Amino acid sequence: MIITCPYCGPRDSSEFVYQGEDGRTRPDPASTDQAAWNAYVYDRVNTAGEHEEIWQHSGGCRAHLRLVRNTLTHKISSVSMARHATVPRRRRKAETPA
Ligand SMILES: [Zn+2]
Repeated sequence: MIITCPYCGPRDSSEFVYQGEDGRTRPDPASTDQAAWNAYVYDRVNTAGEHEEIWQHSGGCRAHLRLVRNTLTHKISSVSMARHATVPRRRRKAETPA
């Protein structure tokens, strides 16, 4: 898989480290809601299709990147700096108001 770093250009994915899915919301640090913390630490979406992820270019500029990658085809449709995300985050079912 080739990932195009905004600073370094196209690079093999072996130069990058997966940091996890993007868009997770950390509970309030003062919260003692064990279910909320358990969900934050252990629950993952495991999407079959487009998935928003954070990767670090650890073998290059060390920047954190936000990718939109199809988990079935590994096609990357978007790469941006994690701190300058340009793709709007999608709401997850758990975050959708009832
Ligand atoms: Zn880079």
